[in-house]
Amino acid sequence: MAVAKRLSEFGTTIFAEMSRLALEHGAVNLSQGFPDFEGPEHVKQAAIDAIRAGTPAHSQYAPLPGVPAFIEQIARRFDEATGLSTDPASQVTVTSGCTEAIAASLLGLVNPGEEVILFEPYYDSYRASCAMAGATPRFVTLRAPDFRIDPDELRKAVSSKTRAILVNTPHNPTGRVFSKEELQAVADVAIEHDLIVLTDEVYEELAYDAPHLRLASFPGMAERTVTMSSLGKTFSFTGWKIGWTIAPPDLTRGVRAAHQFLTFVVSTPMQHAGAVALQTDRSYYDQLRADFVRRRDMLCDALADLGFTFRVPEGGYFVLADHSAVTRRLGIADDIALCKHLIEEVGVAAIPPSFFYEHKDEGRPLVRFAFCKTDQTMAEAVKRLRVMAPAATG
Ligand code: GLN
Repeated sequence: MAVAKRLSEFGTTIFAEMSRLALEHGAVNLSQGFPDFEGPEHVKQAAIDAIRAGTPAHSQYAPLPGVPAFIEQIARRFDEATGLSTDPASQVTVTSGCTEAIAASLLGLVNPGEEVILFEPYYDSYRASCAMAGATPRFVTLRAPDFRIDPDELRKAVSSKTRAILVNTPHNPTGRVFSKEELQAVADVAIEHDLIVLTDEVYEELAYDAPHLRLASFPGMAERTVTMSSLGKTFSFTGWKIGWTIAPPDLTRGVRAAHQFLTFVVSTPMQHAGAVALQTDRSYYDQLRADFVRRRDMLCDALADLGFTFRVPEGGYFVLADHSAVTRRLGIADDIALCKHLIEEVGVAAIPPSFFYEHKDEGRPLVRFAFCKTDQTMAEAVKRLRVMAPAATG
């Protein structure tokens, strides 16, 4: 095996693998979470304008923190949401998507041998980034069907080696938007044990039924939190790969120590477009949420009819459903077998969630469907899924 030991156990990500299979089988792709529609025209135009501008400030390396107009908008928007007062030059760093923000934060702030607490199910890059940093992940399970943060389990996961807690809200894949009480429990543990907290908030604009709360705005948290986000989900341009971190200057120094040697800086014209994107009128976000709620409800109605059980997602663009009743009826063993059946026999691709768990058994009764697709795509998926309905009687 040529792959280095620190990464050899990870293989190809399940997202790339399922999208490949979806294409191969002509399945409607509700696996990897990316939109099948375009983001806003004015943001595209801003990218085109930036490329055409032809000045060094548009074409050459950006300053290390990021393009000034963009980091200013990132800070302004964050301050409006949190009431904090962020200095872009010393506190904001533009990264290649949130995935690089996660890697740079772990590489730049956690020493080999230190521990990082992850909630499972987790986004797969968290574990791999811990492995790259030489950090040891400790897992706290969010248990079905409510997937709530259990403060006692969180406390039990802390040891003398713990350095950080990584929190994702709105949460992929459970669809939870963590409550004030749950996040306060995280804050209490972090403050008591003097830990840093990394927050992945890429679905920040996709909270439907409860407000998205930012841990950085909790008392005592601004000085220990690295807030991470990106343009991808908010503007439906997941391929642009523009993300960022917002953190106090000392933590930012750590993030940048790694970032400067990972990617150095990221695409300059796309950052100019990012500055325009972040000034988009609030009505855009309201429409985005309304569209996703409609598609969520289409999918949830169909899944409920088929016998899947789930908590309707409060945020993000995934439904994490228990398939036990359906797979018992069809004689299918687990999440992996169900996803194979779905692709090959039903023509719909989904994600087997055991890939998001250290305790794989927790994921086997579950399946994840994305609803970040057009109404037309969702309607086609729902139509195909209906072949799994119990045979009509009477
Ligand atoms: N975040 C997306 C998902 O969870 C996809 C990310 C990826 O493909 N790396 O499906």
